[in-house]
Amino acid sequence: MVLSELGKKISGALRKLANRTVVDEEALNEMLNEVSRALLEADVNVKLVQALRQSVKRKVNLEELAAGVNRRKLIQKAVFDELCNMLNPGTSPPPLKKGKPNVVMFVGLQGNGKTTTCVKYAYYHQRKGWKTALVCADTFRAGAFDQLKQSATKARVPFYGSHTEADAVKVAREGVDLFKKEKYELIIVDTSGRHKQDTALFEEMEQLAEEVQPNSIIFVMDGTMGQSVYDQALAFRQRVNVGSVIVTKLDGHAKGGGALSAVSATKSPIVFIGTGEMLDDLEPFAPQSFVQRLLG
Ligand code: GDP
Repeated sequence: MVLSELGKKISGALRKLANRTVVDEEALNEMLNEVSRALLEADVNVKLVQALRQSVKRKVNLEELAAGVNRRKLIQKAVFDELCNMLNPGTSPPPLKKGKPNVVMFVGLQGNGKTTTCVKYAYYHQRKGWKTALVCADTFRAGAFDQLKQSATKARVPFYGSHTEADAVKVAREGVDLFKKEKYELIIVDTSGRHKQDTALFEEMEQLAEEVQPNSIIFVMDGTMGQSVYDQALAFRQRVNVGSVIVTKLDGHAKGGGALSAVSATKSPIVFIGTGEMLDDLEPFAPQSFVQRLLG
């Protein structure tokens, strides 16, 4: 994935700094320029790149450092910490409670991988011992229910939906009620993918949230999209209570930075990343280990 290019460039800039005989202001600036350029090329939001730069400079005040302080280590740690901070909104995802009917609603733009991710998320939790079911509340797109049905069957996760009912709110209510009665612990509601201008579908999303009262709303965003995901994320966040984010398609040619920096728009943590089209191509996301892996 192209993200590893980003990691290579940042590690390269840090290594160059470590190899210099003198670590002075000029060396620090040069390294920060290289890191900033790499982040911008990967589509990370420009404001976040500036913030990272300023924070590193604030933390590493070369003039006031006591003699004997390992400047290279200090700078490396500052860059690492700021990269983690960028991916960490400082909030935790809404917790799932074992033995209770947790309703999790998925929202996102059409084509971003929402349905695929719903099923992966169901499969992941089912394998961890959660009694899991899927509800298809996408009555807008023809074929949406069949798609969910097909992959849910493959994942052996029970599902509910309708080929004939046009009222998404009704389908969602029926599905959630049914699975609650049957003591399911994780009831995942897939909703219609919407475009930014789809006022009607945005209203439907609000009604769905009102009706099923989800414990958690997950925003699915496409990792291959650039800066535009920031505005998208904001638009969703303004309409419903997004609690966490899943970034999809971080395999292949994803630059990733656009989606990763949208954390600051939703003020919600990324909980998983999608790394392929298969059922088990879903990885839990933790900023620290992600940055560690990124930098190799
Ligand atoms: P929805 O309209 O948001 O429900 O999107 P879908 O779930 O139908 O996914 C759209 C396309 O993206 C499908 O072809 C999926 O197989 C593909 N897709 C979803 N997640 C990933 C991922 O993590 N990696 C890759 N490579 N493809 C994905």
